[in-house]
Amino acid sequence: MTMNRFMNKGMYIAGQWIRGDEPTLTVTNPATGEVIGWVPMATDQHVVDAISAASDAFAPWSSLAAAERSRYLHEIANVIERRLDELALIVTREQGKPLAEARGEVQYGADFWRWYAEEARRVYGEIVPAAPGKRIEVIYQPTGVTAAITPWNFPSSMISRKVAPALAAGNTVVLKPAEQTPLSAVVLCEIFEEVGLPAGVVNLVTGDPVQIGGVIMADKRVRHVTFTGSTEVGLLLARQASEQLKRVSLELGGHAPFIVFDDADMDKAIAGILASKLRNMGQACIAANRLLVQESVADAFHRRLAEALSELTLGNGEDAGVQVGPIIDEANFRKIAEQVDEARKRGARLVVGGKPWDGANNGYFYMPTLVTEVGTDTRLFREETFGPVLASTVFSTEDQAVAIANDCSYGLAAYLYTRDMSRSFRVAEALEFGVIGLNDALPMAAQAPFGGRKLSGIGREGGHWGIEEFLEAKYLSISLN
Ligand code: ADP
Repeated sequence: MTMNRFMNKGMYIAGQWIRGDEPTLTVTNPATGEVIGWVPMATDQHVVDAISAASDAFAPWSSLAAAERSRYLHEIANVIERRLDELALIVTREQGKPLAEARGEVQYGADFWRWYAEEARRVYGEIVPAAPGKRIEVIYQPTGVTAAITPWNFPSSMISRKVAPALAAGNTVVLKPAEQTPLSAVVLCEIFEEVGLPAGVVNLVTGDPVQIGGVIMADKRVRHVTFTGSTEVGLLLARQASEQLKRVSLELGGHAPFIVFDDADMDKAIAGILASKLRNMGQACIAANRLLVQESVADAFHRRLAEALSELTLGNGEDAGVQVGPIIDEANFRKIAEQVDEARKRGARLVVGGKPWDGANNGYFYMPTLVTEVGTDTRLFREETFGPVLASTVFSTEDQAVAIANDCSYGLAAYLYTRDMSRSFRVAEALEFGVIGLNDALPMAAQAPFGGRKLSGIGREGGHWGIEEFLEAKYLSISLN
């Protein structure tokens, strides 16, 4: 597939493709350094136009019958599934993950369109028992114009996970994808156009995040901001949102503990940690970062893990057999290397990896890495690690494992591997995290509530919880006398 059509296809505002002037934002393939497309830099006026388009489209869109909105969403899911291979290739080229994973990501996105096509029809109201002569009726209505700001690590599915429930609820959207990966957003907007989604229901702006964010946050017509990205930017958006009390839904950083008890099925635990850590080269907010292994099995576990890590195939995600692709860009690549170096200086032991891959050409590749005896005061143990690096520490008791896991400012995902049923529930309930993988390394499904506690965010995406983020309850107090 040639990527030529992505050379300045434009932003999608009020149903039109808007090219904008120079300068533009170039998109590079992180595996090769090759330029694969470019998108415009929005001016303030473009952003205002996008908000105006969403605002104008809100009344007609929200007053459609739910069944009609549902039909559009089903049709979007159909087209995504029909064009799955093409969309997956775009994800791999702009973001780097291996093609099989990219297919999984695009399908995960389609699952949200499908789920919310169905959920759109189930926004029930409630009648609440009231005093004699009174009725209390509760209806749910869309919040209004939503701004969706999405990250580069899952450039396709993070858009679907936000825009599908927003549209199902009757909201309209201004979408701002990450500057590293805007092409998946462009192709999704092509699909919205293809299925005849009314103009202005979804609008795409690209460019400088600080500038675009500033215009969005200052505009009173935007009532809700749904964001996935770093905790730093999430906190900034929450502060900006507080001035107008815009609603915020935030999916932020994570620093997942992966706890292996001595009674765990070791084959399953090894397979689980590889899946959790290496998916997307470790660039996922739910990726296992802190490995906690029970003392009695630690040496054997580390040995097997190091062996498995050293057997992985790195390379361009488009090539057959590649399991680990590139890191998204130089800044992220440097951060990974710095965290590993700092931990080693502070006494951690490097077991495998710990350096850039020497077959890298022009891409940013880091070797799958295991560092043991990592002090709990190191950056590796305290900060989110967005790369293929596992920091391991041992524990002796269950209470100790829970205490180490919870001693963290993040609270998104946590994993535990054990065959003891009582311990499973005890530990799962004690962990201060929003998502628990219990002998399961891939806790993601369109029907489940995904989200975090503490600095990992506010709100949930997926299931009926996901659409509730986009709805306001309205209570009608009715006198019968
Ligand atoms: P990362 O550190 O993983 O790149 P970011 O939080 O910087 O994550 O990026 C996530 C999304 O937030 C991207 O779409 C990015 O452009 C956007 N973003 C970054 N800074 C701001 C800002 N000040 N206002 C609004 N959006 C922003």
